[in-house]
Amino acid sequence: MYVKGVGPARSGMLETKGLRTVEDLLAYPPFRYEDRSNVKTVDQLAPGEMATVIVEVRGTKVVGFRRRNLGLFEARFSDASRAILIGKWFHGAYLEDVIKPGHRIALYGKVEIDSYSRELSMLHPEYEILAEDEEGEAGLHTGRIVPIYEAAGKVTARIFRRLIDRVLQTLAAPPDPLPAAILAGMKLPDLWTAIREMHFPPQNADIRVLNAFRSQAHFRLIFEEFFWLECGLVLRRKSARVLPGIAFKLTDRVREQVKRMLPFKPTAAQKRVLGEIARDMESPAPMNRLLQGDVGSGKTLVAAEAAIIAIENGYQVAVLAPTEILAAQHYLYFKKLFEPLKYQVALLTGSNTKTEKAQYKRALETGLIQVAVGTHALIEQDVAFRSLGLAIVDEQHRFGVMQRLRFIEKGVGGTESSAGFGVLHSDVVVMTATPIPRTLALTLYGDLDVSVIDEMPPGRRPVITKHVPEDRIEQVWSFVQREVSRGRQAYVVYPIIEESETQAIKAAEQMYGHLSTEVFPQLRVGLMHGRLTPAEKESVMDRFKSGEIDVLVSTTVIEVGIDVSNASVMVIEQAERFGLSQLHQLRGRVGRGPERSYCILVTAKLGDTARERIRTMVDSCDGFKIAEMDLRLRGPGEFFGTKQSGLPALRIANIIRDAEILEVARREAAALLDNPEDDVARRAAVAYVKGHWRRRYSLVQVG
Ligand code: ADP
Ligand code: MG
Repeated sequence: MYVKGVGPARSGMLETKGLRTVEDLLAYPPFRYEDRSNVKTVDQLAPGEMATVIVEVRGTKVVGFRRRNLGLFEARFSDASRAILIGKWFHGAYLEDVIKPGHRIALYGKVEIDSYSRELSMLHPEYEILAEDEEGEAGLHTGRIVPIYEAAGKVTARIFRRLIDRVLQTLAAPPDPLPAAILAGMKLPDLWTAIREMHFPPQNADIRVLNAFRSQAHFRLIFEEFFWLECGLVLRRKSARVLPGIAFKLTDRVREQVKRMLPFKPTAAQKRVLGEIARDMESPAPMNRLLQGDVGSGKTLVAAEAAIIAIENGYQVAVLAPTEILAAQHYLYFKKLFEPLKYQVALLTGSNTKTEKAQYKRALETGLIQVAVGTHALIEQDVAFRSLGLAIVDEQHRFGVMQRLRFIEKGVGGTESSAGFGVLHSDVVVMTATPIPRTLALTLYGDLDVSVIDEMPPGRRPVITKHVPEDRIEQVWSFVQREVSRGRQAYVVYPIIEESETQAIKAAEQMYGHLSTEVFPQLRVGLMHGRLTPAEKESVMDRFKSGEIDVLVSTTVIEVGIDVSNASVMVIEQAERFGLSQLHQLRGRVGRGPERSYCILVTAKLGDTARERIRTMVDSCDGFKIAEMDLRLRGPGEFFGTKQSGLPALRIANIIRDAEILEVARREAAALLDNPEDDVARRAAVAYVKGHWRRRYSLVQVG
């Protein structure tokens, strides 16, 4: 507010972009650059090219309805070459008061030939009115490579340019926080040069490099942002390492028990990952490991093996699921696996009676129950374990990163050692079915080790995926009919939109009525949704499992866990409303048996992104590719759920665009902080992260 030219009104507008301080302003990157140093004249323009011209407004008119801003605004421009350029803006009647005859104006847009007049034209070009430059502004807005900023309210790109220029003129260069050795080693420009050149690139800069965010200045600033983030993560990881954990023993008895439990031969990937987990468990530092693997890759089996290690060492295991249904599913799975081993497995859900709850709690406190399965919420309450050794968190992409961190910190992780050694931190495995691109995983889970199951159990066949418009739904039903008559089962799923399940339940109930009475009167149709009581859910699930239900109509509740290998058809209604990862998870519910499986995506008319999503699904069964596409289509914020993602708000860097710089920053951060030699630089970096950085990156809580 106190910078000359800002004041209360503009400071409010700047705040909408998170710009509160001069530092914020200087870190606000232009989203594009325009080369106005040698702009073309109108007669040099060629149709099809993107171009900038500086022209004078010759005349304007509004065609059509002026009111409600329906009209088409058309302006004629010209320059010294005297050639004419037409600019057109639909719904542009308001521009009559903005773009006026006599104005000098910079236009940027795609050059076309107007289909009526055959004149050169631009449709919806970006424009900037070049008023007479204010004092001292000569050459700020033209005659150079010009930064284009996203406007903040009425603070236009032009005003940003003016404010930033003024600040750069008046401030002295701040000290450069990056270690000198890194600056020299990587030949990076110093901070002040980088900031200045990001806003006002030197005359000879390459406009394409600038627009790719790869100028020296960009590289330095992006690198720096990642570097401090990674430093924080390294420190965080180090401080977790020094917590006292449990050193489990891998005895012969453990191996025997694992062998006795295993229902199949583990895949090579499962073996490798179990090896990684076992090594962590043997070490006295607490394990913090992310177990990544596509839907159906067999993560749960590996988790069960890890559980055996803990239990045979005299510790208890908690299994946490995001939903009650999934908790019930895990409960049944673990119970079956552990039956021959005589472990006690309990399911803690909201539907336990008071007496049951009290009983379970006592049994956990005294150690009678070895494995407690429940939802995250339940375990977080006042349940106490006698000696919790391992927490298995099934994330299935439902828990955000922050939620997970909070949960670990809340200290399900902490357990009073019966031997009286004080608090030992239990080991944690987080299972996630969303294969996150590696660099991203490293950033998000920088304090975790990552294991990947990159191989499917044998005998899986890719699911055949088809797209069917909703007006041809009858074909889908006759296909379902055919598959059921061949002994298979089918799911019909409805999306839950924006956390409100009511709509989805209504749709599912209606379709249940329609399918059970009109379409499939001779089949057994079941209904599953989140408002059923747990007993009802269990009953529906059991009947589907045992084959008493042919067609299961459901809201997305089944997304996370039903495992019925005889089900071979997945019909997803309103598929355009699901995210890619969600569609992939749903599809993972079929294709688990020896039969050919099908996923049918039913949609209404599609917009561009939705079409892209559906095409990706039809073309690919590779969860990794799908996750990358999802990230690309939605951006990391939405991909991880904006609020709970724990993704730090990066200012200049972009995790997807700049992935390779992230990798470099990660290496450099580790090299600096793990190097015992360069003490001064390391201490300075630690101090910088703790002081300066922590404020902005709540993820980085340094110990
Ligand atoms: P995830 O948790 O990764 O989605 P699950 O652990 O639920 O996968 O496994 C999916 C299915 O594959 C389950 O029915 C499981 O019993 C089976 N399965 C797991 N590992 C193997 C294996 N090595 N060989 C054959 N089937 C397996
Ligand atoms: Mg599973």
